[in-house]
Amino acid sequence: MKIKSKSRAEDTTARRHMEPAPSTVASNALPSFKSSFNTQKLHTYQGGTSKMVNVDAFPASKSVAGVFMTLEPGGLRELHWHANAAEWSYVFEGNMRVTILDPSGRSQIADLGPGDLWYFPKGYAHSLEGRGPGTATFLLAFDNGAFDEFATFDITDWIAHTPKEIVAKSLGLSIDEVDALPKREVYISQGTVPPPLSRTRAHGGPQFSTPLSHVFHLRAQKPFKEGPDGQVWRASQREFPMSTTMTGLFMRIQPGGLRELHWHPNADEWQYVSKGRIRLAVFAASGRASVVELGPGDVGFVPMGFGHALESVGDEPAEAVIILNSGDYQEISLSGWIASNPDYVLETNLPNVPTSVIEQLPRRERFFAGPKR
Ligand code: MN
Ligand code: MN
Repeated sequence: MKIKSKSRAEDTTARRHMEPAPSTVASNALPSFKSSFNTQKLHTYQGGTSKMVNVDAFPASKSVAGVFMTLEPGGLRELHWHANAAEWSYVFEGNMRVTILDPSGRSQIADLGPGDLWYFPKGYAHSLEGRGPGTATFLLAFDNGAFDEFATFDITDWIAHTPKEIVAKSLGLSIDEVDALPKREVYISQGTVPPPLSRTRAHGGPQFSTPLSHVFHLRAQKPFKEGPDGQVWRASQREFPMSTTMTGLFMRIQPGGLRELHWHPNADEWQYVSKGRIRLAVFAASGRASVVELGPGDVGFVPMGFGHALESVGDEPAEAVIILNSGDYQEISLSGWIASNPDYVLETNLPNVPTSVIEQLPRRERFFAGPKR
């Protein structure tokens, strides 16, 4: 009798937990996993342009913000740093030069072209320049959704907002000489096309160079995974040791191809689609899920640990730059997981499924997949 009443009490508790309270309905709603650069304000300067998607435009992405920038030949994104994020960037078109100074007084001046990328740890001093010919176009990603490209630490803004006497003493200039410096933030400035790297010297003469490069030629590498349905190039800390807090991927998926169901145990994922159309399916547990379609200029997001897949649904191959907010690339794929389990576990897990179907389940990780041929 006692046992029976106890079990009835447990039943009541269980039922109570299953009844949705009004407040649970709201907390079950998912944020949108899609945003876009296409609807953001374009900031135009002599020498280049800039557009941003941060957490204000994409509330789901608290961990990654993006900027799409262009620089004309000789256009300079001025000497600056970021207080709250590391900077990662992939060059789509044109040629670039970057300058970097690290906190140990070691510097690098490096040239990049299409398919190359750079990584600057949080707070490192840097500048960006278009080398021509043509406009350089590149995507910047920052490992903090609250990053604000229009609130970076630019040297002209700093000088213009510091007492003249302090600037004069700090730089060893006279007050008259300080008066000749810019009175407001420059941000992007138009200069002349830079000389070849071989004829480029630092203002202070030879410098100590950084032991690890801040630049990586991603698309010159062998793909990390490759098959009839897609290719992916990877720059995790393993391939690009400088990149300690971010992994970057360039992914191409053939029409009808799929980046299979998987998740990342240790990182959020942020996607920028540069070509084609991608259907992003996200699984958020407890019967919650989201499907969004992304086209060129759109951005997708998948929180850490959430299951997801990317499907190329257009007529041309889809291409995307994918950012994970860890330099340690980790993933678990559904196919590899199934392959690692005994048949009896799979049969019990999938009740009443014919053995003929169980036998067809994957026996190894697929990564890219297509329709059954
Ligand atoms: Mn920067
Ligand atoms: Mn993923």
